Amino acid sequence: MSQTTPDTRPIGLFDMRAQQALIRGEIDRRIAHVLDSGRFVQGPEVDELERALADFAGVAHAVGVSSGTDALQIAMMAEGIGRGDAVFLPAFTYTATAEVPLVLGATPVFVDVDPKTYNIDPNDLRRRLEMVKAEGKLRPRAVIGVDLFGLPADWPAIEALCAAEGMFALDDAAQAFGGRLNNRRLGGWGGAAALSFYPTKTLGCYGDGGALLTDSAEKADLYRSLRTHGEGKARYEVLRTGMNGRLDTIQAAILLCKMPLLEDELASRTRIAGWYADRLRGHVQIPVEIAGAESAHGIYSILLKDAAQRARVQESCKARGVPTGIYYPLPLHHQPAYRDRHAAALRDAPPLPVSEDLCTRILSLPMHPYLDESQASRVAEAVIAGL
Ligand SMILES: *Cc1c(COP(=O)(O)O)cnc(C)c1O
Repeated sequence: MSQTTPDTRPIGLFDMRAQQALIRGEIDRRIAHVLDSGRFVQGPEVDELERALADFAGVAHAVGVSSGTDALQIAMMAEGIGRGDAVFLPAFTYTATAEVPLVLGATPVFVDVDPKTYNIDPNDLRRRLEMVKAEGKLRPRAVIGVDLFGLPADWPAIEALCAAEGMFALDDAAQAFGGRLNNRRLGGWGGAAALSFYPTKTLGCYGDGGALLTDSAEKADLYRSLRTHGEGKARYEVLRTGMNGRLDTIQAAILLCKMPLLEDELASRTRIAGWYADRLRGHVQIPVEIAGAESAHGIYSILLKDAAQRARVQESCKARGVPTGIYYPLPLHHQPAYRDRHAAALRDAPPLPVSEDLCTRILSLPMHPYLDESQASRVAEAVIAGL
């Protein structure tokens, strides 16, 4: 008889339960405190969280908002971005990055990504910027760099280009809170960084939430005003068009329970990425390592040879109880909602071959801080069995 029984514990693509079990008492206590206080909107927990976020990221200011999408929108509103403005962003990202400029009446200009990092390609960015300038139809106003899957984008290149061209650099760090580049945490790169606290992110609440991080006191004040209907210092004084973009006190209280775990959880994610890399290197393309960059490993994605191999690996994983995900099945310029706008944005826009190719071959594996080594082995074996 075999000494070891097979490991059949379920594996989640993400998993919020293991963490909750560790801090459930504290969460119950803090939620009860908010219920007792009755301060459900802009309660003291929001201020406390903003301090903790700013300290963790090493920036001067954090402003809690209602979601990552609203964080992006408030940052764009603060720059006065709207009709006639071009906002450059990668074609290979979550829809929210492109949706925000469109909602504000601005035009997203999709940029191709680097085939190794999957992040915005600074050379293609420069090329499309020159085309927009030559065409003279749109004003180049901002670049949204995305730290896709947790890996920092090429911020030195994005910052230099934005500084030279008078554009605003906005970091969509929704998948990457905790990541570092050249010893500086994400949050400190660009003019501002947008965080999402959607439950599956590296720091997640139990609903929707987000934050803006910045070193500028002036911008932080503007963000606070914009998240509260453009309110001035006096209540009911309206200085500008804003929105209802506040973070709930209960979500802030939950995030305060989770903040003390974050450093260890990031270390776990790095350790798990290492287990995967040891087992999958040479079989599939694993996430690239960049000198000076520490990924937050928000999502762990491998690249297969082609769509057929990806389909086989998905099947093999499914048969072995290993969930997988595809982030993302379509590049944004092929999405029905954005296709026509992409075609209208720039005459003779060059193709976006890397973004298109990645969508056919990318595959995401289970990644959360509470996976153990035997589970990581099961995942890797399921992948290899499908090749
Ligand atoms: C999750 C995510 C967002 C949006 O965050 P929400 O909190 O869901 O609004 C924006 N950009 C990227 C890259 C994301 O992954």
